[in-house]
Amino acid sequence: MKHLLLVGGGHSHLAVLKSFGDAPAEGVHLALLSPSRHAFYSGMVPGVVAGHYRSEDCRIDLGALAARAGARFLLDSAAGVDAARREVTTARGERLRYDILSFDTGSSAGDPAAAAKHSLRVRPVEPFLAGWERLRERARRGEVRRIAVIGGGAAGVEVLLAMRHGLAGSAAQFALFSELPILAGHGARRRIARILGARGVPVHFGRKVIAAGENGIELDGGGRFEAQAAVWATGAYAPSWIAQSGLATDARGFLAVSETLQSRSRPEIFAAGDVATVIDEPRPKSGVFAVRQGPVLARNLRRALAGEAPERFRPPSRSLALISCGDRYAVASWGGLALEGAWVWRWKDRIDRRFVGQYRFGDTPQEGP
Ligand SMILES: Cc1cc2nc3c(=O)[nH]c(=O)nc-3n(C[C@H](O)[C@H](O)[C@H](O)COP(=O)(O)OP(=O)(O)OC[C@H]3O[C@@H](n4cnc5c(N)ncnc54)[C@H](O)[C@@H]3O)c2cc1C
Repeated sequence: MKHLLLVGGGHSHLAVLKSFGDAPAEGVHLALLSPSRHAFYSGMVPGVVAGHYRSEDCRIDLGALAARAGARFLLDSAAGVDAARREVTTARGERLRYDILSFDTGSSAGDPAAAAKHSLRVRPVEPFLAGWERLRERARRGEVRRIAVIGGGAAGVEVLLAMRHGLAGSAAQFALFSELPILAGHGARRRIARILGARGVPVHFGRKVIAAGENGIELDGGGRFEAQAAVWATGAYAPSWIAQSGLATDARGFLAVSETLQSRSRPEIFAAGDVATVIDEPRPKSGVFAVRQGPVLARNLRRALAGEAPERFRPPSRSLALISCGDRYAVASWGGLALEGAWVWRWKDRIDRRFVGQYRFGDTPQEGP
């Protein structure tokens, strides 16, 4: 028996679990380690916040997917790796042996010392959605007049517009703070700037937010903005446990992998999604690439178990981003091109529902309200 340990139920591991469920591998003991029974499909999270979907609509039952693949499901999280002993240590102190190990644990929202305890972070998704429910209630009771969103990437913009839609009818106002110009590198940036302007959302860029407190945020170089709530969407950071693992990393601390998705220091360790950087073909941390890596990762794990040579992951040079605008309207961004309309939202809705639907086994997909 060979032990294949999957750590994290991210987008790439969904494809791996489905593959092993479709075609079980002989002589392989498969296990999945995840801190939550559910994986959340982030593409639909702004739609949950806006009220178009229920949180169940964007979550995938990892327990059911693991059971179908014949995998042992371990409800715990990885806290470290001892690559020399081929063991993963969990947060509860268990030691899990492996022959082949695969990471798809995503990125963290960082731990900005500046973020007050009561401010929200968009990652991990589950606590963010719970925090949003509480924030929405406070805003509806009139306790929150202004909400500052920190981070001008696609996630920050989508979450801001979704919250604004979810709070339509309340007096809450929003402002976006971004160190860089919003949606830097996206063909859609001008359209999004216009949409934010038309909806009365002020955008402050070029200044870093250095602290968020109960009644406002503070800007680098001085200046304060009154807000009763802050939401951090400041990008993807490497999980802290990687630094202690001794595994090869990129300059930002993410696991360094080759085009075969194997660790640059340990070929028996694979990694995909946000947690990994393909050193020769780096791409932005985005779900699109994690999804595309899934089938290659699944085939390479089988090949590694069979002692065969792995294949290479060839990422596209650009990817399509579909940015929802709170209401059932979205902007498509591909390289320097951009298109927008209610039809873009319907297109995104179909893609997102189809993605989640392919990983539902036994449970019926639910329609949005
Ligand atoms: C609000 C929002 C909207 C977004 N929208 C889009 C979009 O429309 N399109 C797009 O391309 N990208 C989008 N992104 C980015 C996208 O979410 C990420 O790039 C994507 O989720 C990365 O997928 P992944 O497979 O690396 O890991 P994830 O999907 O983040 O999953 C990682 C999993 O690993 C688990 N895990 C974490 N730590 C551990 C541990 N120590 N041990 C075990 N398990 C662990 C987590 O519980 C989680 O289930 C969005 C992000 C946010 C925050």
